Amino acid sequence: MCLFCKIVAGEIPSTKVYEDDTILAFRDIAPMAPTHILVIPKVHIPSVDGITAENSAVVAHIFETIPLIAAQEHLVSGYRVVSNCGQDAGQTVPHLHFHILGGKELTTQMA
Ligand code: 5GP
Ligand code: ZN
Repeated sequence: MCLFCKIVAGEIPSTKVYEDDTILAFRDIAPMAPTHILVIPKVHIPSVDGITAENSAVVAHIFETIPLIAAQEHLVSGYRVVSNCGQDAGQTVPHLHFHILGGKELTTQMA
């Protein structure tokens, strides 16, 4: 089982900020901004490369929920959503996740 599947299963603790039947959001263990949250599908999808017509409903649900999480976290002046896919992007956990970064003015350097 991958690290984030273990978090979904409750085998590894996390600080949850949102959860429903199909997705989970929790605080990143090594935050890169004052607010740094990871939003994941509960089902194991390895990365953005693994999104298909069959499983993309959960991705849509994640993006419908991100604004609610951002509001809950008072990210009133904006935030960034990032997903690292594969080696060149530095993906370290092979379970699809979207970073929500905010709480400060973020650098404009994206790559
Ligand atoms: P990636 O580098 O794959 O885009 O993002 C993986 C993220 O998962 C990193 O920002 C890293 O800090 C975070 N992370 C790794 N292990 C854990 C963990 O056990 N708990 C939590 N909450 N975050 C983790
Ligand atoms: Zn997984």
